[in-house]
Amino acid sequence: MGLRNLNCEKKMTDIINVNGGCFCGKITIRAHVLQENIVACHCTDCQKFSGAPFRATLIIDATLMNISGDVCEYSKITESGNERLQGFCGNCGTHIYATSPDRKIYNIRAGCLEQHNELVPVSHIFGQSSPDWLANISKAKWFRKGPTSEEIQPPKNG
Ligand SMILES: [Zn+2]
Ligand SMILES: [Zn+2]
Repeated sequence: MGLRNLNCEKKMTDIINVNGGCFCGKITIRAHVLQENIVACHCTDCQKFSGAPFRATLIIDATLMNISGDVCEYSKITESGNERLQGFCGNCGTHIYATSPDRKIYNIRAGCLEQHNELVPVSHIFGQSSPDWLANISKAKWFRKGPTSEEIQPPKNG
């Protein structure tokens, strides 16, 4: 986990140290990510794998991250014919990453990391399959916790 090469080109403020892991705790992650390498993907595969309308992802060089624990992988063939390995916890099912067979770059799933507020996507890809309602979520009712809890204002600037 060397930061030296990155520091030559980038200011420290551009680098976010992240940590996290899967729901059951068998897999843990530590990594360094550049703010500019955080994206949200709205493709239909991300929607299906995650069960969510989109998935935020950190694009990280393999030398700048450390994953411990056994990660299961599902091999997916993309539209363009490339193999993508989808890493997840075989015990609790949490999505951990996607990578190519050469394992040089990992797309770490932001949802399994603790720095939620800092990990702001700088770009949104596959916007063609994003649901229209996403633009209007601040107009829906928001509750602090479950549906019978206190009603709150939607996130600011959200
Ligand atoms: Zn797990
Ligand atoms: Zn996607």
